Amino acid sequence: MPRVILRRCDDYEPDRIKHLIGECMDELGLRPQGITMVKPNCVIAHPTFFPHAFTRSEFLDGLLGALRERDDAVSDLWVGERCGITIPTRFSFSNALYPKVIRRHGAKTKYFDEMSQVQRNLFSEGRLRDYIFIPEAVDACEWFVDAPKFKAHPWTKVTFNLKNYIGIQDDEHRLIDHDHHLHTKIADLFEVIQPKLCAVDGITAGAKTMLTPRPFPLGLIIVGDNAVATDVVCTAIAGLSASEVDHIRITAERGWGPLSLDEIQISGDVDLEEAKHRAKGFELTLDKVDKIYNNKSKLQVYMGPPPDTYDYCWGGCPGALDEAIGIVERVQPEARNEMKPLHIVYGDYKGEIEPKADEKVIFIGDCARYKGKIAGQETEIPFLYKERGTISPERVKPADIVKKIVLYLWYKIVSGRKRVWRMQGCPVSVAENVLLISDLGKTKNPYLKPSIGLQFIWFYCVSKLMRLLFRRNVSEKSIVKRTG
Ligand code: SF4
Repeated sequence: MPRVILRRCDDYEPDRIKHLIGECMDELGLRPQGITMVKPNCVIAHPTFFPHAFTRSEFLDGLLGALRERDDAVSDLWVGERCGITIPTRFSFSNALYPKVIRRHGAKTKYFDEMSQVQRNLFSEGRLRDYIFIPEAVDACEWFVDAPKFKAHPWTKVTFNLKNYIGIQDDEHRLIDHDHHLHTKIADLFEVIQPKLCAVDGITAGAKTMLTPRPFPLGLIIVGDNAVATDVVCTAIAGLSASEVDHIRITAERGWGPLSLDEIQISGDVDLEEAKHRAKGFELTLDKVDKIYNNKSKLQVYMGPPPDTYDYCWGGCPGALDEAIGIVERVQPEARNEMKPLHIVYGDYKGEIEPKADEKVIFIGDCARYKGKIAGQETEIPFLYKERGTISPERVKPADIVKKIVLYLWYKIVSGRKRVWRMQGCPVSVAENVLLISDLGKTKNPYLKPSIGLQFIWFYCVSKLMRLLFRRNVSEKSIVKRTG
């Protein structure tokens, strides 16, 4: 029976964290072997703007210490990640204060965006694709450690061990199927590698959103030997049933772990009821964006369904808008109420759109389509969505943030005076939504903060150079093709 251990820990004190995780590993009978890689959740990090979005460096310090104390069979110790919203992983690792900790434990840093990508075939029933691409470090790893932050997520309700898998792909591959199929994509990624050890940083949890979460003092370290079981326990602590979280349900249905608490042995110095009590008031985002913003902000959202049989694109454009507002509000806290009014349209929306004078209407995403009058003008927005099966992972282009900014500026020059805009992409990313909100909504622009901008330019250049030197393009014939 899978086991999950709940340990009380109220402070980020590395020695205590090392001691607690070490005790859990001994209790679970786990000792690392061969190439051992820790995958934290470092989707984004910055001490001022994103202080609660990532697995803390003190937690990583304690975890690496616990692994090192049991490393007699370890050949190499790595910390690997691809951070989010198309910014270089180096930038986020530096701001998370990881490099010093990694060096102190004699480990190596693996930036997934700077290395070659390897094809891996998939076999699970219900998979989205027959093959995907993963970084060569993930392919080489022999003992995988999942070390997520305990957080809410506006796309997937929660993010623990399984959702952390989105960070094992570089941007161009990560954004394929990052739409209404996101939950299935996560289950597909889990087939690539399964963690031997799960260690969840729930000391200060992240509530409400995933990039700009509110700090929540949960005071827990959650350790397990099965990712699905550990997620089921974490979800229960957050106040949900795991069957309500599709990526956990799908991964469990594929046989990777139990969906029921009755099939998990839970132990530790905190019982589940006390853990749930500790999480009382932990905010999740379960509403769709039209409910979040209409009549409560200067945004008017018109929601049509995405393709297939879904009624809402939980893993794509709408959630990106919510996270983008969170980022803009880090530099202008009341931005949603102070911005210029904007009308945002998703999917196959069939109702009226009535902007007042000067208010822009923006159709977001390739699946947006419309035929009708907007401010008295006949308007037709074509459906640009490509069937998922027609997208080849080896042919997708890198999703670079600077390229996105340049393309946006070009679009603005060409369409700036038009009343109706169309942002293409599937999904339209958080980074592009931030540009859109700050530009058309006339809010402060987080990209123009000197404290972020100069540091970003440095890491962007270094990362580009490293890619140039060490990464082979996946479309080259030299790519390693695996058959399973
Ligand atoms: S374009 Fe956006 S909303 Fe439409 S399917 Fe793609 S990710 Fe979802």
